Amino acid sequence: MKAATPANSTVEAHYKSNLELEVALKNFTRRCRHISRLYTIGNSTLGVPLWALEISDKPGVSEPEPAFKYVGNMHGDEPLGRELVLLLSDWLCDNYKKDPMATLIVDKLHLHLLPTMNPDGFAAQKPGPTRNNAHDVDLNRDFPDQFFPQNNNEEKRQAETRSVMNWIRSSRFTASASFHEGALVANYPYDGTPDISTKYAPSPDDSTFKYLAGVYAGNHPLMLKSKEFTGGITNGAHWYPLYGGMQDWNYLHGNCMELTLEMNENKWPPPDQVPRIWGEHRKSMLELAAATVKSGVHGRVMSSIQGEPLAATIVVSGISHSMNASAEFGDYHRLLAPGQVYTVTANIPGYYNRTTSVFLPNNSAVTLDFILDPLPSNVGFARLRGHGLFDEKNFRTMIPPAEQQKESTKVPAEEQGEKTPPIDVATYKLTKTPTKGLDSDYESGFGLTMQLGLVYVVLLISVAAILFCLFLRSRGGVRYQASRVQRTLKESI
Ligand SMILES: [Zn+2]
Repeated sequence: MKAATPANSTVEAHYKSNLELEVALKNFTRRCRHISRLYTIGNSTLGVPLWALEISDKPGVSEPEPAFKYVGNMHGDEPLGRELVLLLSDWLCDNYKKDPMATLIVDKLHLHLLPTMNPDGFAAQKPGPTRNNAHDVDLNRDFPDQFFPQNNNEEKRQAETRSVMNWIRSSRFTASASFHEGALVANYPYDGTPDISTKYAPSPDDSTFKYLAGVYAGNHPLMLKSKEFTGGITNGAHWYPLYGGMQDWNYLHGNCMELTLEMNENKWPPPDQVPRIWGEHRKSMLELAAATVKSGVHGRVMSSIQGEPLAATIVVSGISHSMNASAEFGDYHRLLAPGQVYTVTANIPGYYNRTTSVFLPNNSAVTLDFILDPLPSNVGFARLRGHGLFDEKNFRTMIPPAEQQKESTKVPAEEQGEKTPPIDVATYKLTKTPTKGLDSDYESGFGLTMQLGLVYVVLLISVAAILFCLFLRSRGGVRYQASRVQRTLKESI
């Protein structure tokens, strides 16, 4: 008698329909509700919800932690991402508090998973699943482009693209990747060149992108050994230039370090191969997400007045791409390639800059908090902000233009020739005003001296005023006594 198992397996092995995917996501959030949240970022052109799954120990709660996203099925005929993010979710839920990697990702990161960005293209019936959306637009050519502004007409943007752009603008993702098929390689920015030529187009963060792509390829048994791509990674424009892509827009406008991952040599692999493909990609998917916690410089920026968070700009010397700390917590997450010394500056109008040099070890992130002293003209405003009485919107207009100009033209100590020694410890936490030598502290020390001087002057004036009042009162007393004596004399005459 012939065994029925193989036939049954074939029937069971299929890519989930959009409805089945929705059911699977809802079942997951029921099974793992303690670490997950399901939400939509919008609807497709045909009205299918674009479901996103958040996995974290505090899903839906703002925390001073990095956020990472995986986006699947941007092209309708590349369905692997739909299944892989579900398998990733199950693995994290099953191994949370058991496996260190699962626990790290759930506890220290907010992981967001969009299984399908193009449910309409996936579900197209005639002639079948298609790369483009229901308006026959390639979503990976539909984003604003740095070289071709004609691509920037917001009114012509597809519903799926608009939803993802709003999602990126509102979520402060630190890093991300989208899943594609047709090759096996980790692709990094830039994807385009100004003259449409096929050549290497480095972004300001080229070394960091190469590092992140290497994390993915290096943990995949086949990608690393690629004969076509050295080390299993490639610069996008060096492979072939494209314009209006999601990857570069993430970096340039979302401060999100995004890779484009080609997951399989052939598109739409037979669904019974999904478990094998998942087995090959699992470690890469975990390590790339974890790299947002395990590498780079992370910390918070606070005011020295009340300790309130500051949405300061974080500048790394030599990299012409800055990012901002959050207004809510003052936290920032600056991914950088390890094994180097970096000079990091935090600046915000109304405060003295602070610059620190750090060495990034190979297998660890560095924690670096900045405590900024307000400029003398901003001390009162800073106190108001500490008490929640400060109007952030009017902040820049409240600082005298001369002070803004003075601050914005300051040059970090490193660039002035004052070489600051690197800090060769894995974790350096700056929780109080640092000692000179670690930081370029001259400016902040000057600020404190000015404040103390003002206090002394106010005290001296107060003492002088009190003494003067006492003097006047004593004079008045003498006059009063004298008039009484005169009146007594008159009465007695
Ligand atoms: Zn694709």
